[in-house]
Amino acid sequence: SGALLNKDFRLMAINSLWAGLERQPPDSLLALIGLYAADPRPGKIDLGVGVYKDEAGHTPVFAAVKAAEQHLLATQATKSYVGPEGDIGFFQRLLPIIFGEDAPVERISGLQTVGGTGALRMAAELIARANPEATVHIGAPTWANHPPVIGAARLKVKTHRHIDLATQSLCFDEIKAALVAAKPGDVALLHGCCHNPTGADFAPDQWEALAQLCAEKGVLPFLDLAYQGLGDGLELDAAGIRIMARHCPELLVAYSCDKNFGLYRERVGALYLLARSADEAKLAQTNMLSLARANWSMPPDHGAATVRIILESEELSRQWRDELDEMRLRINGMRSDLAALHPALGFLMQQKGMFSTFNITPDQVAMLREQCGVYMAPSGRIAICGLTPANLKPFAAALLECKVLGSVEAIA
Ligand code: PLP
Repeated sequence: SGALLNKDFRLMAINSLWAGLERQPPDSLLALIGLYAADPRPGKIDLGVGVYKDEAGHTPVFAAVKAAEQHLLATQATKSYVGPEGDIGFFQRLLPIIFGEDAPVERISGLQTVGGTGALRMAAELIARANPEATVHIGAPTWANHPPVIGAARLKVKTHRHIDLATQSLCFDEIKAALVAAKPGDVALLHGCCHNPTGADFAPDQWEALAQLCAEKGVLPFLDLAYQGLGDGLELDAAGIRIMARHCPELLVAYSCDKNFGLYRERVGALYLLARSADEAKLAQTNMLSLARANWSMPPDHGAATVRIILESEELSRQWRDELDEMRLRINGMRSDLAALHPALGFLMQQKGMFSTFNITPDQVAMLREQCGVYMAPSGRIAICGLTPANLKPFAAALLECKVLGSVEAIA
């Protein structure tokens, strides 16, 4: 093997395999983290982060999670594999939180996944197995990872406008038109709540209209619920999904516990499938299990077991809900406090969750960063959690300076 190591492989006649790969662009948000860290200015503001932060800029571990982890550590008797379906108790305890206490459980199947991303990918693979001709309709802009995840399952993606950023209003007619033009068997990928990156969610009457359209057209609702509890609270944030489940005989929910339990790196998610009948739900389940085997074989246990322990305990559940409420109130507080600083920021109060997107040019994004030390994604998305009572006014002043906002007499 010594001789092999000394060979100069570049001189060999056989073509190199990796040299033919196309270079992929780096993640623009990760690049932003590096730029922010290197900026020496004390008043710099980071609105790029995609995770929850408290006023001190920390992403804390929930106390309920710490307590559940301690219990897990003390009682776990084996590290043997969980099955490909994951932690069934976790899956079942979460179900009524999403679908309500009167959920048609016999028509619902699914499994634990590797985060919300794993659920999205598995759902895409399942759709591709059932109907390789399906087109997935997505409102733009959307979470940057949606198109690659859907594309990785070789499904076609077609986009329509979700929002008009100039007026910050939903393009509801265009969304409906996309569904009217869809083929039966096509898929509508919708954000269940707290739309990432715009915060622009559907009102209940709009969910009703979309659900009726999907049911009439035979379009499958594919709901991405990654932020339940961070908009209007756990119940209200599930309203869209429950409306869909009432009208549509079949749907998919890709769920993430990574934000609402603060478990990001533990990769906790689940895929829920609603079928026309219990038999079809079971049939689909056998396919999800085989997809799991071919993807990750068995999911990781720690995060899902932690969530299960919380949901099994009345006391820990209450504590988790209180902590989640506190996060939601901080997000909504920052939204309304920033909105109060300038009349053109009023839209922030109508929008929900961790993100909103400004109607802003790449030049203005660069100017905000270079001139004012304000870091945001090149798309103009801001993470509401990067805002604190101390940086609200400097941020609004920077928006004025870079002409993102027209001047009023002065910042209120
Ligand atoms: N869906 C949306 C809209 C998201 O914003 C995210 C994460 O940022 C996910 C899904 C994936 O979540 P997870 O980290 O659990 O894979």
